[in-house]
Amino acid sequence: MTHVNEPAMKAVLVVHGGAWAIPDSISVASVEGVKAAALSGFLVMKKGGTALDAVETAVKAMEDDPVFDAGHGAVLNTDGEVELDAIVMDGRTLAAGAVSSVRNIANPVTLARAVMEKTDHVMLTDRGANHFADSIGIPKVHTDALVTDDERKEWHRYKMYSLGVKDLFNSQWAHDTVGAVALDCYGNVACATSTGGIRNKMVGRVGDSPIIGCGGYADNHSGAVSCTGHGESIMKVTLASRVIFHMEQGKVPSEAVKSCLQYMGERVQGGGGVIAVARTGDWAAEFTTERMAWAAVDGEVLWYGLNPEEMFQEKLPQ
Ligand code: ASP
Repeated sequence: MTHVNEPAMKAVLVVHGGAWAIPDSISVASVEGVKAAALSGFLVMKKGGTALDAVETAVKAMEDDPVFDAGHGAVLNTDGEVELDAIVMDGRTLAAGAVSSVRNIANPVTLARAVMEKTDHVMLTDRGANHFADSIGIPKVHTDALVTDDERKEWHRYKMYSLGVKDLFNSQWAHDTVGAVALDCYGNVACATSTGGIRNKMVGRVGDSPIIGCGGYADNHSGAVSCTGHGESIMKVTLASRVIFHMEQGKVPSEAVKSCLQYMGERVQGGGGVIAVARTGDWAAEFTTERMAWAAVDGEVLWYGLNPEEMFQEKLPQ
């Protein structure tokens, strides 16, 4: 999906709720979830907030929504544990913050932002990230509070049939990572991505989501990108920075995203989805998996979709 914007600077926010074979049983909830997240993030910018504030708010809304595999609703690793990854990036300064393999944190995106703003580092992992969260007063939640009954059942089913990431290559592996990109009326872009990863991943496996240039990238000179899909494939082609590079070369977001997803499919046989906003305000939401729930707010219109080539619109609620 794509949209070409007027030259005047207006705020734009695009979100995704993960690219994979989303079953019908959660398709409505996924679409409603991305629409609500897009509206909540856009409202922040409408009230004068920055793109960075907006992407954090939108991603937090999806982390709190158990239909998505991020924060509440996370998938489980081979040991039946939750390990969460997240990144946030500010296109003004290229400041970035990320966390990987964190446990018992409801909103990893907020912890990632704290890494960016309160430490000299870009990424903290595992125990260190959790210690840092304690030191700045981010509350811990019990693992059970993050895991849904459906995920426990699915995880047991996967275990019983020894299904792993490779067996489920046809985009069944992925599970609703969330992400947001925004352009504010000051001309700043930002991105955020958050995930529980892929079900039955090895303990300690880190996917693309928290890796700068893979799960996300933002630069005021070009635009902002958030990715979803098969993490190992996304990392091999550094998908987010590849899309940014194409936008720097003058491609509009839809062309940039489509050609990079095609490259990832051909080069490493990986599927996924990407949302992007250019500094001009043009934006795109594209995927090569069966489905991806996405929504965008652009001026007075809320756009959204789930299936390939689908693009619905509604006027923004007053
Ligand atoms: N990219 C995520 C990961 O590999 C999964 C997803 O996007 O659904 O951890």
